[in-house]
Amino acid sequence: MISIILPTYNEESNLLKLYECLSHVTEKMIGHDFEFIFVDDCSRDRTPYILQDIAKTDDRVKTIRFARNCGSHAAVAAGLRFCRGDVAIMLAADLQDPPEIIPRLLEEWEKGYKVVWGVRDKREGENFFTLASSRTFYFLMNRLTNVSQPPTGADIFLIDRTVIDAFNNSPEKNTSVYMLIAWLGYTQTYITYVKEARHAGTSKWTTSKRLKLFFDSLISFSYVPLRFMSLMGAISAFLGLLYGLVVFVNALRGNPVAGWASLMIVVLLIGGFQMIMMGMLGEYLWRTYDETRGRPRYVIEKNTLVDSTSNCRQKRLNED
Ligand code: UDP
Ligand code: MG
Repeated sequence: MISIILPTYNEESNLLKLYECLSHVTEKMIGHDFEFIFVDDCSRDRTPYILQDIAKTDDRVKTIRFARNCGSHAAVAAGLRFCRGDVAIMLAADLQDPPEIIPRLLEEWEKGYKVVWGVRDKREGENFFTLASSRTFYFLMNRLTNVSQPPTGADIFLIDRTVIDAFNNSPEKNTSVYMLIAWLGYTQTYITYVKEARHAGTSKWTTSKRLKLFFDSLISFSYVPLRFMSLMGAISAFLGLLYGLVVFVNALRGNPVAGWASLMIVVLLIGGFQMIMMGMLGEYLWRTYDETRGRPRYVIEKNTLVDSTSNCRQKRLNED
């Protein structure tokens, strides 16, 4: 069986067209069973009703609804936890990732690859700011972490059951699903595709969500910020020592250094560095605290893959 996982948040105007495309692509793929898992990230529009209607007419369609908006990475993680396929494919629900890529991904899997990435070759309909920030993100991640990702970014992936199980055994919450899969290893390959403009609606990735992902990815896979702090500390201590010597020698020579302004600059500069470093330590500390607190990564309100009763929800919550 092939599981298609679709994180969905306020996508009412895309769902029917998406379902049509998925049905069209998969009906040609004779000999394969499918399940389409729509993970509704607590949409506030008509998304859950549309999904319910589609699910009534097609039992391949399954839905998981979150009780609160947890972000698309949590939605993908939930899809991977409950999917039943021998292989899972993740696609966005806004038709930016064309379902036509499914047979191409499977071709690579049939060659024996356990992870197949859909790498963006071109992106349609994105503004300069989005493209520049995305490029900077992947550039920094490739430089600062030990996980390498394609510089233009990969939004689609296929993973084999062995990788799904390995992923599900990684309970980390504040992380990037993509980087975790890249980090897991196994035999990985990629194919390229053109990322279309959104069929309808607007991007749900706010600047604060992007920043959160940036710090999650960095902190989860790199100790460079901590190294940087130690380095900055060593450099400022060294410079302070040199400056101290200059002051001392000048004082011995009978012309002590005067200057309130220069003192203020040094104090403010070092104070600023210290605040930034404390902020960075705070990012690590908060994540450690959040992980130890043991709250679930997502809260499920309804899951048609298991059961739709509230008992089931409680059971899942306890498990997670
Ligand atoms: N999404 C989600 N939860 C969120 C934000 C987005 O499930 O909080 C879904 C969204 O519906 C879409 C996918 O994640 O299917 C990618 O999001 P979006 O298209 O907004 O991001 P972009 O393509 O702009 O990076
Ligand atoms: Mg999108």
